[in-house]
Amino acid sequence: MQPGPRLIRDFAAFPVPSAVLVVIAHPDDIEALCGGTVALLARAGARISYLVLTSGDKGSPDPLIDPRALGAIREAEQRAAAALLGVEDVVFLRYHDGEVADDLPTRAAVAAQIRRVRPDLLIAFDPWHDYTFHNDHRQAGLVALAAARIGARRPGPACGIDGTVVAPDAPPHSVAEAWLFLTGRPNLVFDIAPTIEEKIAARLAHASQAADPAGVARGVRARAEATGAAHGLALAEAFHALRLPADESLAERLDEWA
Ligand SMILES: [Zn+2]
Repeated sequence: MQPGPRLIRDFAAFPVPSAVLVVIAHPDDIEALCGGTVALLARAGARISYLVLTSGDKGSPDPLIDPRALGAIREAEQRAAAALLGVEDVVFLRYHDGEVADDLPTRAAVAAQIRRVRPDLLIAFDPWHDYTFHNDHRQAGLVALAAARIGARRPGPACGIDGTVVAPDAPPHSVAEAWLFLTGRPNLVFDIAPTIEEKIAARLAHASQAADPAGVARGVRARAEATGAAHGLALAEAFHALRLPADESLAERLDEWA
């Protein structure tokens, strides 16, 4: 029988990674989906960076709104939401909303950021969540994990784009672990009761995506309650955590391909 998920009720006793990179598709993904845990990490002293693949420039029901103006608004909202959780390092790659792709240029751009931030922990969408309908979310998860692999590689003839496109001045960096959110196979669950109010406040900082703030707040709380109910907690966020292969050693590769 599979062991149940690891439940983290007391974050103070949890070993906190020193550097964390969160890769997402849109402004508000973190706040809607994993912001309670990010707040726990920030409170515990982790150095946290966000990499936002788009600026959410299509995220409006108004067909006449200028996408560039909307993108600028949403970037400002994302920075404000990050600041509420104590996060200052927010980078936007400015792909268009709806056009996120797990392709070589995007992998290279994300890998370059991995080498710059040098995280111990990568937080990203679970791209293997069954029947994820939102293509940007699925692609964002795929590209984050592919980039982690590229970012760890050393320059060499077998490494393709590595060493030419990927931050040639930044040395390779192996990310030890990934936590994938919006997952159907949770194995790591955090009690977010201590940070639910921060999570809601950060979500509401995305004012352009909160026409009904009270309804949005209720939705954030209801999602945390539903996740918690599955694990005997009042309010929770769930992840699929996995160790990432360190580098290019044969043993690692055989293990990875097993
Ligand atoms: Zn999204």
